[in-house]
Amino acid sequence: MGATNGNSVILDRSLPFEDRARRVLDHWAGGSERWLVDDLAFFLLYCWFLKHENALRFEPYQRRGEQRSALADTPLVRDYVAASLAAVGGETGWNAILRQRGLCSCGQTNRLENMGICVECATFECWECQGDHRAVTSHDVVG
Ligand SMILES: [Zn+2]
Ligand SMILES: [Zn+2]
Repeated sequence: MGATNGNSVILDRSLPFEDRARRVLDHWAGGSERWLVDDLAFFLLYCWFLKHENALRFEPYQRRGEQRSALADTPLVRDYVAASLAAVGGETGWNAILRQRGLCSCGQTNRLENMGICVECATFECWECQGDHRAVTSHDVVG
């Protein structure tokens, strides 16, 4: 295996998202910054966290049969998200990420603030494509 870090674990599509998140949290519990995430991996993780972090956030986006992730309630994940957010530059860094552009498979490009991302596939999904992607895959598209 090549050099692994937080980004490579979070974007490892061979595992379900929550398994990747648990794996990165196990590594990061030792305190090493290499297990934090930035760029695309941070966008994915933070969008997932913002959706799942509490019931008030989750319920407006909840789809039939979908459960809020219990992982989002663990203090470790909250600390990890906060540490990664700080490492990308806090709210200023987050806003810079949101102004980056992403490409949907349909060819549409948009600022990330107007894009979703599939937590399983790590693909950008424009508003028009999100519903189809969910319907076909049952994946969680966040953002
Ligand atoms: Zn997907
Ligand atoms: Zn699209």
